[in-house]
Amino acid sequence: MKVEFHRHSLGVDEFNAVVDTLHTIFLTTGPRCGEFEQAFARYLGVKEVVTTSSCTAALHLALGALKIGAGDEVITTPLSFIATANAILMVGATPRFVDVDPVTGLIDLDLIERAITPRTKAVIPVHLYGQMVDMRRLRDIADRHGLFIVEDAAHAIEAMRDGVRPGQLGDAACFSFYATKNMTCGEGGALATNRPERAELVRKLRNHGMTKSAAARYTGRYQHWDMEHLGWKYNLTDFQAAMLMPQLGRIEERWQRREQIARRYEAAFSGAGIEFPRVLPADNKSARHLFTIWVDEHSRDQILGALQDRGVGVAVNYRAIPCTAFYRTQLKYQPGDFPVAERIGRRTISLPLYPRLQDNEVEYVSQCVASLCGREEALTAAATRG
Ligand SMILES: *Cc1c(COP(=O)(O)O)cnc(C)c1O
Repeated sequence: MKVEFHRHSLGVDEFNAVVDTLHTIFLTTGPRCGEFEQAFARYLGVKEVVTTSSCTAALHLALGALKIGAGDEVITTPLSFIATANAILMVGATPRFVDVDPVTGLIDLDLIERAITPRTKAVIPVHLYGQMVDMRRLRDIADRHGLFIVEDAAHAIEAMRDGVRPGQLGDAACFSFYATKNMTCGEGGALATNRPERAELVRKLRNHGMTKSAAARYTGRYQHWDMEHLGWKYNLTDFQAAMLMPQLGRIEERWQRREQIARRYEAAFSGAGIEFPRVLPADNKSARHLFTIWVDEHSRDQILGALQDRGVGVAVNYRAIPCTAFYRTQLKYQPGDFPVAERIGRRTISLPLYPRLQDNEVEYVSQCVASLCGREEALTAAATRG
């Protein structure tokens, strides 16, 4: 059997939306981006959304709009995709990593306050694998120290914790529409904020800091534009935004299928004594972006290879950011600086999790994992018990 690590869910509605847009005059940022921004803001329950060319771009724009730069420090997690920490370096600030909780893999809120210095300006929490950081508690910590919060919500479109969704308590929340994310247009992103004036600034900064977008220059009589800030070129195209609209309509249905698959994995692996990060039960909806298991660190790479030999697509999300060559050499991190994140990074394997995954594929993946971890009997026993 061959089980791909990921297959997208795009179909005839997305294909038609792209073709329809190609029949209009706008290829770049225009009315379709605007429609999606409004629909996504309504979905999230926030005032404003600005589409961007990626989540990395959205993170960069958020820090730029908050005027964070050289000499400033930004607290974040070592257990994320490199984009999270790279955005801090892109504005010339310094990342300060805080180790993660061993049960969830989320940044450990108990450790944040001791990492705050007079230079600290912001925190970037990552809602890892789809489970949100406790935003009420983090907002309280940030307010007591006068810090901004920029949420990396690349995994967390559908998430909610204690009634709070991404973008509602943060100063900005950044989303990704990269190929494997819960909603995709190949490459793309968005920034959500409850502050209209911040959204306005981000709209300018995503387009060189120009006062008028291409759409605004086109509609009506020609008006001169000006440049007010040094910005970037981080806008989304209209045909990409058009692809996102039908997906937004099916987002809950697709989340439900991933939730079902994740629960099957959890039941199988609990029965087989295989560890995985816990989704906390109380009033907490994980967006279920990634399903990872934590295996013995000495056999992780062997298991990774053996799963591939059996036709199972795998990934590693993530080895700790400070362990990469760049962070080790340029920022002088040493092995052992963030023991919990580093240990998870040595143990983790991500398994296939997407709506088109079939029940028999889920079962096959579970059986492969259990047999490779030497827990096949336990899995069979658990299945028999029901
Ligand atoms: C995918 C991802 C990003 C980057 O998203 P892009 O849209 O590819 O820039 C950032 N943070 C996390 C946690 C991600 O998984």
